[in-house]
Amino acid sequence: MFTLDEQTQMVAGVIRQWCRTTLAPKIPALEAGTEMPFDLMKQLAKTFGFDAMLAGPVKKRIAKLRAGEVTPDEGLAASTGNPMMMHVVVKELSRVSPGFAMGFGVSLGLVGGAIVAKGTADQIEKWGLPLTAVQLIGSWCLTEPDAGSDAFGSMRTRATRVDGGYALTGSKTFITNGPGADVFLVYARLDDDVATFIVERGLPGVTVGPPFKKMGMRDSPTSEVFFDDVRLGTQHLLGGREGAGGRSDTKVSLGSERSGVPSMAWGIIERCYDASLQYVRDRKQFGRPIGEFQAVQLKIADLFLKLRTVENIVFRLAWMQQHRVSDMPFINASKAMAAQLAVDAAMTAIQIHGGYGYMEELGLEKLARDAKLLELGAGTTDINLLAAARELIGVGAST
Ligand SMILES: Cc1cc2nc3c(=O)[nH]c(=O)nc-3n(C[C@H](O)[C@H](O)[C@H](O)COP(=O)(O)OP(=O)(O)OC[C@H]3O[C@@H](n4cnc5c(N)ncnc54)[C@H](O)[C@@H]3O)c2cc1C
Repeated sequence: MFTLDEQTQMVAGVIRQWCRTTLAPKIPALEAGTEMPFDLMKQLAKTFGFDAMLAGPVKKRIAKLRAGEVTPDEGLAASTGNPMMMHVVVKELSRVSPGFAMGFGVSLGLVGGAIVAKGTADQIEKWGLPLTAVQLIGSWCLTEPDAGSDAFGSMRTRATRVDGGYALTGSKTFITNGPGADVFLVYARLDDDVATFIVERGLPGVTVGPPFKKMGMRDSPTSEVFFDDVRLGTQHLLGGREGAGGRSDTKVSLGSERSGVPSMAWGIIERCYDASLQYVRDRKQFGRPIGEFQAVQLKIADLFLKLRTVENIVFRLAWMQQHRVSDMPFINASKAMAAQLAVDAAMTAIQIHGGYGYMEELGLEKLARDAKLLELGAGTTDINLLAAARELIGVGAST
């Protein structure tokens, strides 16, 4: 359970190499917003055959649904038989660009994953397959200007029944991949429940705002998305019928979103640890490597423990996915902890590197800026911890 198999180690190695040669040189342009990351995401999936790896299980699910066999929803990660693989890919990407990892994970894992798990055979064929092959880019649209932590209670985006279909009106904000997405998975109020719609970019009434300027995750374009009387049919309703993509199903997606955060934290912390270990051996002050000073040694031990803690969280998440174990308190609480450890690790690494750590060139200041998002996105740390506590105690609703 606590080691990577040979195939996963091999994939980690080649992804690290791709990050070094292909992703890293693009970071300045991606951060400046002069280039979008979407073509790179497609290139990554094609280069490493993610499309082929996921197409088999996805096609099998389509065939089962067409044959009328009701299959238990299984996440994409579990269906590959090696959930650790995707965590390791996200970890490797996050060493260089947590923003790129986030956009890639949202499109493939969250949007593609939700459609594969909850969609009809036709929906999986039309949108699920190309999303998991990263031929299409997806956005996950839950948050609204006045509905963040209280995403469901305060939701104003609404679908109304018209002419045998639906009219969707409302707006979403802070939407990852918004500026370039082909497909939006949109949560909207329908009567007293929540329905999930698959909305294509070109439909009349769909507009997208310009990319926000942000503290971090600058290589992940984020925007508002507006829906003005967008006409949709039942083919756009996730699951093909009312009630199929309701509020309880959405929680599965929230769990999947939160399960992806520790692997991003893992990448950030691992890079901070590796860079710091090397630096304390090389950097000399007072005629000695700074690694000979006890205050610095304590920081290295602290980084090492953070690294192993988050690594173990990810191993447990992968084990849970593989064995279809649901443990939402663990998912929520460990997401919060991994996020905090990533922020702390980035700050510690900068401290170890002194003034050089503050400079853009080393990439540590970027990791610090990016890490902060982990404490906000996919539910804030307080909301994650409260959700875990409420479920453990057995009081109140959790989001
Ligand atoms: C870069 C970025 C990318 C994002 N990508 C997406 C995306 O792709 N799709 C999407 O749908 N959303 C996305 N989000 C939105 C994100 O999930 C929300 O920002 C997050 O859920 C918090 O909502 P909020 O920002 O409205 O904060 P608020 O809910 O307004 O919270 C403000 C503060 O109040 C606290 N608070 C609120 N309610 C409670 C309570 N009951 N008890 C205790 N404390 C409370 C919070 O912890 C926080 O500290 C993204 C956000 C960012 C910044």
